[in-house]
Amino acid sequence: MTDSSTRTQATIVRRRIAVKGIVQGVGFRPTVYRLAHVHGLAGWVLNDSAGVKIEVEGDAKEIDGFIEDLKTNPPPLSQITGLSAEDIPVQGEDEFVIKPSDDTERRSGLISPDVATCEDCRREMFNRRDRRYRYPFINCTNCGPRYTIIRTIPYDRPKTTMAHFEMCSRCSREYHDPANRRFHAQPNACPDCGPSLTLLNASGGLVRTKDPVGEAALLLHSGKVVAVKGIGGFHLAADAANEGAVRRLRERKRREEKPFAVMSRSPDKIREYAVISDEEEELLSSWQRPIVLLRKTKRHAIAPSVAPRSKFFGVMLPYSPVHHLLLAEDVLALVMTSGNPADEPITADNTEALKRLEGIADAFLVHDRDICVRTDDSVARVQRGTRLLMRRARGYVPAPIALKDGGPIVLGVGAELRNTVCIARGDEAFLSQHIGDVKKFHTLRYLEKIVEHMKKILEVEPEAIAHDLHPDYFSTRYARERAGVKLIGIQHHHAHIASCLAEHRLDKDVIGLSFDGLGYGTDGRIWGGEFLVADTANFRRIGHFKYVRMPGGDVAVEKPPRMALSLLLDAFDGDLKAAGIPMLDQFKKTDLKLLVTILQGGINTPKTSSLGRLFDAVSAMLGVCNEASYEGQPAIELEGIADEVCTESYDFMISPNGSALQVDMAPAIRQIVRDIRDGVDRAAIAGRFHNTIVNVSLEMCLRIREKYSLDTVAFSGGVFQNLLLAERLASELTRSGFEVLQHHHVPPNDGGLSLGQAVIARTRM
Ligand code: ZN
Ligand code: ZN
Ligand code: FE
Repeated sequence: MTDSSTRTQATIVRRRIAVKGIVQGVGFRPTVYRLAHVHGLAGWVLNDSAGVKIEVEGDAKEIDGFIEDLKTNPPPLSQITGLSAEDIPVQGEDEFVIKPSDDTERRSGLISPDVATCEDCRREMFNRRDRRYRYPFINCTNCGPRYTIIRTIPYDRPKTTMAHFEMCSRCSREYHDPANRRFHAQPNACPDCGPSLTLLNASGGLVRTKDPVGEAALLLHSGKVVAVKGIGGFHLAADAANEGAVRRLRERKRREEKPFAVMSRSPDKIREYAVISDEEEELLSSWQRPIVLLRKTKRHAIAPSVAPRSKFFGVMLPYSPVHHLLLAEDVLALVMTSGNPADEPITADNTEALKRLEGIADAFLVHDRDICVRTDDSVARVQRGTRLLMRRARGYVPAPIALKDGGPIVLGVGAELRNTVCIARGDEAFLSQHIGDVKKFHTLRYLEKIVEHMKKILEVEPEAIAHDLHPDYFSTRYARERAGVKLIGIQHHHAHIASCLAEHRLDKDVIGLSFDGLGYGTDGRIWGGEFLVADTANFRRIGHFKYVRMPGGDVAVEKPPRMALSLLLDAFDGDLKAAGIPMLDQFKKTDLKLLVTILQGGINTPKTSSLGRLFDAVSAMLGVCNEASYEGQPAIELEGIADEVCTESYDFMISPNGSALQVDMAPAIRQIVRDIRDGVDRAAIAGRFHNTIVNVSLEMCLRIREKYSLDTVAFSGGVFQNLLLAERLASELTRSGFEVLQHHHVPPNDGGLSLGQAVIARTRM
């Protein structure tokens, strides 16, 4: 009786639902299937090129409940950006099914980034009775590789590098059972049917063993360097507590001082050598598993060569099953550095690894699941509420950045250092993974490959390419070599500010502080300490740091004492005696004479307004860093020693220079020289210098607000990786009534530039 009465009361309808966002490869269809059963609905679900399509038929109220549940309780890794529903004619179905993917439509479904091994899988992997006990490729709908194994979309096993592994009957049963955690988990595998590990010796010969990962762990324990194939490429691993092993790795990799990242099995292990705040622990443990920069503890057992002269360790938690297996209970930490010779892209292919890492690795732990797109580890920093991505790659790519508006399809190709590319499509921007320094043919090829892959998975052909104004960058040449595409040159520092605006979904005029290393200016000079008024279309240069000479051009980046010399000569009107500080003694007499001559004669000494170079100079003056083995090292080390409670500062001058305001730091340089001679602690000097930059910036912002009535300030450029500066300045500005925009999801360094380029180009089009 109840049955017939409900049947008469119920209004049977059929509804078609389209879901957009990260909805493929994240267990979305199984969730839909389960919810359809809970609400007693018939119909089907499928992945199509626009996302997920659903048709449900049943009681109208139940359908409402179904949609509500889907919205409020989507699978953990999914991200719904749009959901629309329309009524369609009832078909009288009585079953709910998952249909095969439809790949005829436009392929705009979003691909999930790679996801760290989930807790369920980890537990199974260490359960002796589980059929995947110690299986290094365990994964499920909630975890595992995604972006790095996808050749094309829609995301289905035949379109991934898992295609040639045929599932055994047990895996297949899981894969087809909607109630199973591995239902439609595309990389699903087990020891019987999936990929496997192999250990090779230094010359690529097979090491016969039943337990390659156990054998590799033993090698690491005995101080060997092992190349480990992971999710996005090869790591070079070594015992982080073994100074001999780490030093060997450093020598072989020819990487003098840049800190190595390390990996430990748990936050508790990390606490044995680094300090972790709650926020840092949350970031470390997030499924993206970035490398997080953590302050070293006073005493620790990590080898000195891991991160010489740095206050920080770059630390990550295991994110692939292999990592969990390598990190036994008694291992404090492993060095896990990108498997590539210095300045080259990470290695991803087995044969390529044997060739490129020959002489570096003592053994190779490889597997037979191909990496389709290589992706480095991401790097992040947290400090009192500010979360910053310094390198955006694995775990974050290819999740889109939501833009304020739609527009034409544009490719931004970035600049040169720490490069990325970006494709803007509709109201989303797809920033590529970190490509690296595009200074060599090698890296240019990598850039080309990434652009082609992104075009394929996004199914777009850009109408325009936005590039840097520097005529000699490989990225600019790449743009020029594309035929039939509109080219739009974008000024470097404007692109920085636009990337910050894009991240905040704004396009209004703001005061832009664009502080970085080097970028090509519209006057043909090298900019880098810029005060702009900018929106996402245009900019005006309102002020800048005074131009100083870079003796020898780019060489001065590697040799910060040269920048110091340049600033000293400028501050003391060429009187080196008056500028006498111990730092000058390190120059050979003849070299010093030559440098002074070329500086005074203006020979091969381009002028720059770069704030990054000013930090380099002060770092060298204090003897903190005399040789930069990577760009930004002197500034990072200067921040590292700075007294954070210091309140004093130095003097500076702001005066008009043509149409722009010019900040002259000569008074500060003279006071620093005085302090050095007076034997003031260099931590205090570094603190005062940071405060001076805060004061300069605040003063400039006040003047600009006065004249242009703008009270929003955007921070961008590599200098803002300096959180001591960023935080101080942000709080001063806020106190003076400014609204401050900082980067959170996009790197402030040139890794975010391609986003700014693409956004400006679109606005101009
Ligand atoms: Zn899992
Ligand atoms: Zn199997
Ligand atoms: Fe830059």
